[in-house]
Amino acid sequence: MCGIIGAISYRNIVDILLDGLRRLEYRGYDSSGLAIVDIHGQVMCLRRLGGVQNLSDAVENTILSGTIGIAHTRWATHGKPAEINAHPHTSSDISIVHNGIIENYQSIYKQLRECGYICSSETDTEVVAHLVDWEGKQGGSFLEVVQRVLPRLRGTYGMVILDRRMPDRLIAARSGSPLVIGCSIGENFIGSDPIALLPITRRLIYLEEGDIAQITASSIMIFDRCGNSVQRSEILSNIRHDSVNKGVYHHYMQKEIYEQSTVIKKRLQGCLKNNKVDFSELGSKNEILLKNLKHIQIVACGTSYNAGMVARYWFESLIQVPCDVEIASEFRYRQPVVRHNSFLITLSQSGETADTLAALRLSKTMRYLGSLAICNVPGSSLVRESDLVLMTQAGPEIGVASTKSFTTQLTILLMLLAKISYLKGMKPDIERNIVEALKVLPYRIDQMLLKNDFMADLAKDFINKENALFLGRGTQYPIAMEGALKLKEISYIHAEAYAAGELKHGPLALIDDNMPVIVVAPDNDLLEKIKSNIEEVRARGGSLYIFTNAQFCVLNIENMHIISIPYVEAIITPIAYIVPLQLLSYHIALLKGNNVDQPRNLAKSVTVE
Ligand code: GLU
Repeated sequence: MCGIIGAISYRNIVDILLDGLRRLEYRGYDSSGLAIVDIHGQVMCLRRLGGVQNLSDAVENTILSGTIGIAHTRWATHGKPAEINAHPHTSSDISIVHNGIIENYQSIYKQLRECGYICSSETDTEVVAHLVDWEGKQGGSFLEVVQRVLPRLRGTYGMVILDRRMPDRLIAARSGSPLVIGCSIGENFIGSDPIALLPITRRLIYLEEGDIAQITASSIMIFDRCGNSVQRSEILSNIRHDSVNKGVYHHYMQKEIYEQSTVIKKRLQGCLKNNKVDFSELGSKNEILLKNLKHIQIVACGTSYNAGMVARYWFESLIQVPCDVEIASEFRYRQPVVRHNSFLITLSQSGETADTLAALRLSKTMRYLGSLAICNVPGSSLVRESDLVLMTQAGPEIGVASTKSFTTQLTILLMLLAKISYLKGMKPDIERNIVEALKVLPYRIDQMLLKNDFMADLAKDFINKENALFLGRGTQYPIAMEGALKLKEISYIHAEAYAAGELKHGPLALIDDNMPVIVVAPDNDLLEKIKSNIEEVRARGGSLYIFTNAQFCVLNIENMHIISIPYVEAIITPIAYIVPLQLLSYHIALLKGNNVDQPRNLAKSVTVE
């Protein structure tokens, strides 16, 4: 979740490190720091609490120059956000930046204390620095020392280590947290996310699980977990580094909400051919897996889980394929039973979500037909380890609250459903109707975006609220869940989503005039049912905000706000209806003065469990 960048070059790398950190800040931002070896061979380490700007201000006031260094932006797991806990952590000549959690740090520390080591921070990471220092005293090259240390660590790490006495190399190690090497001429780099490296190089080598790399300015050596020297292929990234700018928008989240119609349109153009879904990237051999599946198990977390929930309604109602959806952190520990001919689908924006990745790995020991990842980051672990992959191609998503990932995931899921119906020889109408609806989806999203000013105005009703209820039925129930999640994430308003029929089983007790109730109610066959639920709320004095394209003929509209939504084709309503809810949360967060892109306590890409 944190960001790491390391550099070794012939030129001063301080600005490269700082720029990398700025680009990584969305992954963790409670503190940041860097360590470089200066021209006198001394380690200069600067750490600051708060955003990268604080570190950059500190650098401005210091004379700092060096050709090798490591830097970090932290998302605290062990020890509060504080300068003392910020990375890099040092032990004598060793400096280290780390992403992940070392689960057995306390027992290691106990042993190190007996050797005279004292930690000055509360982190798990500092213990590793001391362990590397202690192990170094037992002899061997820097690489050998790290190779001896790693088997002693339990947990997850992406880490980069610097030894002041060896200012020509960095050692990087990956287990559970991604690392990618950026290759260049006479200089090399390492980062936890390619976004950090893109302005300097597009030539990337992803480390695999268990890999250790020794990186100098002119060479890269990689060893697998058994110590064998291995070659990992170099890829040329096609992500444009300027796609990581806000452009004309005030926030990444705003930009990403507005980009939804464009990225979906582009993705559809690549896949909809002759009124059919063409997923040639799956490979015709693999299509047989989809044809034979009798059950789908979706595993995901957060917003991706909500997308999976929508897909469940689609798979069962449109093509009668049984589908279960589970939160990855539950799936991986509960010993699930595999259904007959079941196929696993994982959803993750980053492709590095620790629990989803663990669920995928677990599934390989079970009797699934195969696995498909729907993911936004090429080269990510989920992409590399799944049998089949469909990329969302949404472009970098920087705002911590997911927006375009959700709608692109849903678009891919709907196309996948159409493809499965075709492969299974089902009625051609199914695919035709989906393709027809998807063709107008970008336009429908644009129409939703026109609601922006209205949402900005509506947001005023919510700034003093502490709670909110979201209600939906059918495919709109997961949309209510996603709407509630957005509100929690960036507006810090406690929000709960309920299947509207569940109201009377408890939540009605919460209704009073201080409880806004947001109802997602497109004009469909469940409208009459949800109207009854609306009446239940009205009868108890709740204030209602109804997102609908239907006519509501009620005599007394007190406490009832109808947010009139343009017509949307039934099948794509979930994709379209989330857009105004995203906008509403965005504007509430803005009015409350919250940090929209970097909400408190959260970070993008949850690489720890
Ligand atoms: N566990 C380490 C810490 O709390 C690393 C956290 C991170 O991934 O940013 O400092």
